[in-house]
Amino acid sequence: MSRGKVVFGAKSILLIALTLPGLSCDASKDAAQGKDKPQSAPPVAQVDTPLPTLSLPPDNGPPPAFDGDRTMQYVKEIVALGPRPLGSANHKKVEDYITSHLKGDTVEDDAFTADTVEGKFPVRNIIAKYPGTKDGIIVIASHYDTNYPLRNTSFIGANDGAATSALLLEFANQIRGKKREGYSVWLLWTDAEEAMKTWSATDSVYGTKHLAQKWQLDGTAKQIKAFLLADMIGDADLDIDRDTNSTPWVESVVYEAATRLGYQSHFFARNNAISDDHEPFMRIGVPCADIIDIDYGYNNVFHHTVQDTVDKLSVKSLNISGGVILETVRILDKMDPIPPK
Ligand SMILES: [Zn+2]
Repeated sequence: MSRGKVVFGAKSILLIALTLPGLSCDASKDAAQGKDKPQSAPPVAQVDTPLPTLSLPPDNGPPPAFDGDRTMQYVKEIVALGPRPLGSANHKKVEDYITSHLKGDTVEDDAFTADTVEGKFPVRNIIAKYPGTKDGIIVIASHYDTNYPLRNTSFIGANDGAATSALLLEFANQIRGKKREGYSVWLLWTDAEEAMKTWSATDSVYGTKHLAQKWQLDGTAKQIKAFLLADMIGDADLDIDRDTNSTPWVESVVYEAATRLGYQSHFFARNNAISDDHEPFMRIGVPCADIIDIDYGYNNVFHHTVQDTVDKLSVKSLNISGGVILETVRILDKMDPIPPK
């Protein structure tokens, strides 16, 4: 993923976009380290649009169950495979790891060959489908590939790839085998999210670009009520951004879910314009929220570095992220119409 304009303090009326210290260093050095290339927009004043206030249905019953300890165990097992860049033997291992946890579920692939700036590579998006009683689909997505430019280092992407892939596996545990009184839920492990060289519109999100086009052509996109993207939200210092490239009403639902669970202090203190796997779906009119914490370590030093390791994560953060996403689904299930009027 890549970060564009950065604005701190969601409550202010008018804010100046700031340049983070980490964004001012030499771009070619960043590229060599495999970091996302910063977008070199000049500082501009940006109006901070508040999220819309929605009248949302109340919850009944206890909050959704989520097992952060089991999720952390999945994270450890995924990173134990080693670096998992596109085209590698370890990439195949993590594909097998994911599908081995979905036995008995309805699983489909979107497999194709991507023509990337580093050549042709096999790409495989993995989709597990859990039918609901209502007409429509909620997609929850996370990428499972790890950073390609860092493929020859010890980079294992504990937070950037493993943590949210593990979250989705735990969602499957919570959803399967129960009657869904709500929309169908599709869990989507996306592939080839990472840039092969340097993040740009053409060198990134190869998997979701392909899938969004496919789902637009076959009519699936029109049935998607909301697309929730999880990225880098196992961080022990959890501080989830409000992404200004996401759909405001979906973010309002996410924030309401966080508030109902008492976790709102971890959400939306900071605004950011994020380029990520949701953008191909945003472009075809699917309502999306990128649920992401792009501030990973002091000055973001753990992001796309070999320091992205399991000790930087916490079970508590996994429980917060997992619980809030499932609560978001629970609210969406009861919303009619979607999008809200
Ligand atoms: Zn990444």
